[in-house]
Parts: sequence; C-alpha cells; structure tokens
Amino acid sequence: MIRLKRRRWTERTRILALMLAVMLPATALIAFGVLHLRSIQRDHAVEAAIQRDYQQVLAIADKRIVARARDMAEDARKDFPDLEHASNLDGFLATHPNIAHAFIFVDGKGIDFRSQPELMHSDGEESKEAEMFGKWFDVDATEFIAKLKKIEEESGSKVYLTNNWVQRHDRWEYQSLVLFRPLGAGDRTALAGFLYDSDYLANTFFPKALNAVMPCVTTTDASHPQTGIMVRTMKDKAPMAVSPGWDGGTPELERPFEAGFPGLVLGIKLRGTTIAAMSQRFLRTSFITLGAISVLLCAGIVLTYRNVTREVALAKLKSDFVSNVSHELRTPLSLIRLYAETLELGRLPNMDKQQEYYQIIRKESERLTSLINNILDFSRIEAGKKEYEFRQTDLADLVRSTLESYRFQIEQNGFRLEQKIDEDIPPLKVDREAIARSLVNLVNNAVKYSSNEKFLAVSLYRANGSVKLEVADHGIGIAPHEQHKIFDKFYRVGDPLVHNTKGSGLGLSLVRHIVQAHGGNISVDSGPGRGSRFIISLPVQRTVQEARRATA
Ligand code: ADP
Repeated sequence: MIRLKRRRWTERTRILALMLAVMLPATALIAFGVLHLRSIQRDHAVEAAIQRDYQQVLAIADKRIVARARDMAEDARKDFPDLEHASNLDGFLATHPNIAHAFIFVDGKGIDFRSQPELMHSDGEESKEAEMFGKWFDVDATEFIAKLKKIEEESGSKVYLTNNWVQRHDRWEYQSLVLFRPLGAGDRTALAGFLYDSDYLANTFFPKALNAVMPCVTTTDASHPQTGIMVRTMKDKAPMAVSPGWDGGTPELERPFEAGFPGLVLGIKLRGTTIAAMSQRFLRTSFITLGAISVLLCAGIVLTYRNVTREVALAKLKSDFVSNVSHELRTPLSLIRLYAETLELGRLPNMDKQQEYYQIIRKESERLTSLINNILDFSRIEAGKKEYEFRQTDLADLVRSTLESYRFQIEQNGFRLEQKIDEDIPPLKVDREAIARSLVNLVNNAVKYSSNEKFLAVSLYRANGSVKLEVADHGIGIAPHEQHKIFDKFYRVGDPLVHNTKGSGLGLSLVRHIVQAHGGNISVDSGPGRGSRFIISLPVQRTVQEARRATA
C-alpha cells in the first residue's frame, strides 16, 4: 500500500516537473514579451525609430536636391558671358528662360542687373532690386569672393547657392541666388550671378526634385503607407512644393536645408496616417499576436498535461491489468490442479464428492476459457482485426440458451435468477457468439459484484425501435462519477469491494465494442448500494452494412 502511494506520488511529481519544465519558460517568454512591448510603448520606441529614419530620409533628400540645383547652376554658369561680353546678359536670359534675373557686379563700376522681359515691372521694381544688390555687393563682395574660393577648394564647385527674399504684393517671396566669379575677372572684385524666381522653384524645380527623391509608389498595403515630403519657406507654413505622396496636413518631422537653400524647410509625413497611429497599430498587432501565441501555448500545455496524465494512468492500468490477469489465471489453475490431484489419488469417500470435484474443475476451466476469450477478443480489437459474423438470429432463443448454460452456476452461487423474455422480439442480424459473450460478461459482473442480496434479472424486450437486453442486480452498485469510466479498457473501480474481486477490467470495454459494432449502445443505471442495471440497445432496422459503417 505504502509502495503504491509512493509510486503515485513519484508519478505526480514527474508530471508536475514535466509541466513546470514547459510552463516556466513559456510563462517567462510571455512575460518577457509583454514587458518588452510595454517598454516599447512607454519609451515611444517605434515613433523614435521612425523619426530617426525620417531624419535620414530628409538629410538624403536635402543633399540630392542641393546637388541637383548645383548641377543646374553649374550648367548655366558655363553659358554665362565673361566680363568682356558683360553686355550680353539679355542673350543669356533668352537662352535660360528658367532664370529670372542675371547680373554682373564689378567693384567701382557697379551692377548690371537684367530680368526676363515678362518680369519687367512697370513700377521700377527691377531697378530697386538692382540697387539693393549693388549696395549689398559693395559691402559684401569680398566676403562672397572669399566664400567662393573656399567652396571651390573644398568641393571643386564654382557656385555658391544662397537665397534672397523679395517683397511682392505684401508677401515675402523666396528666390534662389546663385553667385560665382565671372570669367575674365582676374584680380578684380567682380561677382556674377542669377536668380531663380519662386514661381519657377515652386512649380518646376522642386516638384521635379521631390519626385526624384520620393517618387510616387502605388501601394495598397496599409502597413507600408506611402511617404510624402514637401518644401516650405521659413516664413510660410503652407508648402511651396510637394512630392506626389503628400496628402496635406502637418509634417511629422521638419528639417531646414543645411546648405544650398537657406530659408527653406523640408518636411515629411506618412500618407493617410501618422507615426503615432502606425506605432499604435504595430503595438496592437504585437499584443494581439502575443496574446494569440499565449493562448495557443496554454492550450498546448493543457493538452500535453491531459495527454501525459492519460498516458500515465493508462500505463498504470496496464500494469494493474497484468497483475490482475496473472492472479485470475493462477487461481483457477491451482484449483484445477488441486482437485485433479485429489481425484487422482482416489481418496474421495463417495461419488457425490467426486462429482463435486469434477464440477469445480469444469467451472474453473470455464472461467479460464472466458477470461482467455476476453483477452483474445481484446487483443483482436486493439489490433483492429476483430471481425463479426452477422447472421439473422432469434435473440430470445440466444439469450435463453446462454442463460440456461449458466443457470446452474448462477443458482449454485445462491442467486435468484429472474428471466423475462418478451415474445415479440424480431429476428436481428447479430454475431451470436459476440452477443452471448456480452451477456455472459454482464451476468458474470452481476454475480461478482453482489455481496448481500443475490439477485439477478435478465430481460429482453422491444422499446423505441430497438431491442433491449437488460441485466440487473441488487449488488454493490457504481458511484455516478465512475459510471462513464467503467467502459474504458483496464478500468476497475477503486473500491475495496471491487479490489477483493478478481477481474481484468476488460469485460465492459469488450461489451461496449461489441454493442457498438452492432450499431447499438450500452448504458448503465446504478448507485452505490442499490444495485446496477446495464441496458444493451440494438437497433431493429439496421442492415449489416449500416452497422459496419457505424463501427468504422
Ligand atoms: P472487471 O469486472 O474484470 O473488473 P469490467 O470491465 O467487467 O472489468 O468492469 C469494470 C468495472 O466496473 C469493474 O471493475 C467494477 O468496478 C464495475 N462493475 C461492472 N459491473 C458491475 C456491477 N454489476 N456492479 C457493480 N460494479 C460493476
């Protein structure tokens, strides 16, 4: 008993250890996942990562746009008239319609400032602008020349890109100013340059440049929304030009141009969404995925736990079965041997005694046969090799004759046998031997598990389109929570009353298999101390094929 308890305990600790080995890392993994996601949420890590990416995108855009502008300016500079032919500024403007104004400044000589004819304003705005530039260069020309030298030394570029603001119709307009040393300037303090107007920048240059940097990608994937960038002046929140992906609204991130376009700002944002929304979606998806994985993991653990417990229980039942069967085999065998030896010695006083001994030997060998039949049937069923021979059978006759061959034995055990077989039982297609074995198993159980009141009732009747074979006793009964388990293979109720009785735990599982193979079912109505009633229901109208299909 103590050993049994210890074995159960070690089994339990083994299962527990196994479960812990799976559960602990799984829980740790889930907890780590949740904490990690929480920290991402708390630190706005997704937003920060996207912002960092955007900073880089804007830095690259800045460089590319300025490089494009510089190339364009360099090309134009090559066509620019030298100091000797300075008067040809109009010709230069005529061949470069995108340039609004061009000028040459020579210290002491002043500025020669020309504009595209369509930009010539009647209110003398050009002359005002020329005057302003003249004054500016009077003061800063040497500084600009030094700057140009530095740029050339550092990058090989001969142009300096800067800006100029002009006030038109109460608005400040942005102009891109390109400065360089005119050809043939020598040591003279001379500067040449031209201006791109804000119209050209806003309508032509920047749209093209932005499109080159951030082309329109048609995508329907909501997890990869399109990015849009825009350029605006520092004096105005509204964009001056936008890339094709721009859908209005406030930029997520802004960055002033580092060089080339001072006074302009680059902005970037997602089309149709925001970084915060994206981050939230990312976190939501991650939490949902983690939740789903956790649920699956828990389900897996529960399933594994149930399987392992079932396997352990089955292993225990199997080992109990081996000891039960060995015990069951040994008892009749030793009885047979004992009585046969006594008979052999011929010491029995009278014929009656001899007869009694022969009967015992027969009874015990019958018990042996039925046990071995059960085991053989069981092994056939387990191997999927059990076959039934369905034949048209008079069930009433089958039940009657089976009981008849057991009547003597039953009554000898002190049982009162009540037999109630209705007359209207239709012939059924059944396997005679299997049905007889089922009845014998039920009758044997009734005999085995009755202690005080030795009563056995077998009835056969029709009800609800089926034939019912009922075996009832007034024995020890079965507790309700055990009733669904008794039909499992190897299962025996853990009651001491049962343990004192020999058994293999196979009988009822065989009966259930047989009955189901006939397309029927078996049920039990029982309670501790009030006896048991096993009812086999066999359908009347079923064909053999149907029954086979039902079993399959
Ligand atoms: P076995 O009788 O060899 O143990 P069975 O499969 O025939 O195996 O029965 C399984 C269990 O169901 C028995 O161990 C017993 O606990 C219980 N049982 C079966 N028939 C009866 C009955 N008529 N009365 C009380 N308990 C029963």
